[in-house]
Amino acid sequence: MENYDDFRIKPFIFHNKSFYVKHDELLDPFLSGNKYWKLHALIQMPKERYKQLFSYGGTQSNAMLSLAVLCHQKGWTFHYTCKPVPSHLKQQPSGNLSKALDLGMLLHEVSHDDYEHCVQRLREDYIGDAESLFVPQGGADPMAQLGVQKLADEIKQWQHTQYIERLNIVTPSGTGTTAYYLAQALPKCKILTTAVVGDKAYLQAQMEILGEIPSNISILEGTKKYQFAQLYPELLKVYDRLLDAGVTFDLIYGAVMWHVLLQHYDAVEGMILYVHSGGLMGNASMLDRYRHKGML
Ligand SMILES: *Cc1c(COP(=O)(O)O)cnc(C)c1O
Repeated sequence: MENYDDFRIKPFIFHNKSFYVKHDELLDPFLSGNKYWKLHALIQMPKERYKQLFSYGGTQSNAMLSLAVLCHQKGWTFHYTCKPVPSHLKQQPSGNLSKALDLGMLLHEVSHDDYEHCVQRLREDYIGDAESLFVPQGGADPMAQLGVQKLADEIKQWQHTQYIERLNIVTPSGTGTTAYYLAQALPKCKILTTAVVGDKAYLQAQMEILGEIPSNISILEGTKKYQFAQLYPELLKVYDRLLDAGVTFDLIYGAVMWHVLLQHYDAVEGMILYVHSGGLMGNASMLDRYRHKGML
């Protein structure tokens, strides 16, 4: 790693526009990007604190794989509840699912009809249980605040040493947990994000679970809405262009965020710092899908 300023922040020129990128994808190959910060409180926790961890959500989720890595490191049993897994994936697990299973994750499939009920039961059964920990989907938990505060502290120190007055911090949102706690911790900065999982209303509803939405968050929308984790030629193109410019971003969150950010670039006042949210371990299976569709 050469030419990095403090806190992995480096200038980045893209489409003849200038940015800074905070390279948190380099923190750890699996526990990388914002999952490192969101799970920071757990990473710091002594092994003896818990015996098992329960979570739920999609079977290719980055949060799932990060939790699997964490539990493997701590020696905790990892129980993960999901909706029915497609048969081809069950016969031949790939991507994040196969890595998480290799790390010992116990997958509990439940029917679509039972899913919400099962998740609610887990929540009730294990919140307050001394040996077990329940982590909501995507790590959308107040526990994330502690780690994201550390991320904010790094940004604040860097901003100070660079004498930057107006700083815009860009990062893509799933549950919005990272953007939410960043905005809370950095009231003088503007947080620009976009809804990658659902639409803007869905993201706002997700953030409202955490509390009142800070006024310094802007949820940017593009001219077109992309379905989560689906294949689009323009997203592949942004990913390729970013790669040509020297940085690998993830094809699900990063590609959408950059695509939307470029549409809003001229209206942004001040410096832009893009916080890399990680997720690179999911690129192999996304690229396989693009190849399979003949788009690559
Ligand atoms: C999980 C994830 C996000 C979304 O983070 P939230 O805090 O849920 O909004 C963004 N980018 C990548 C690469 C992720 O893995």
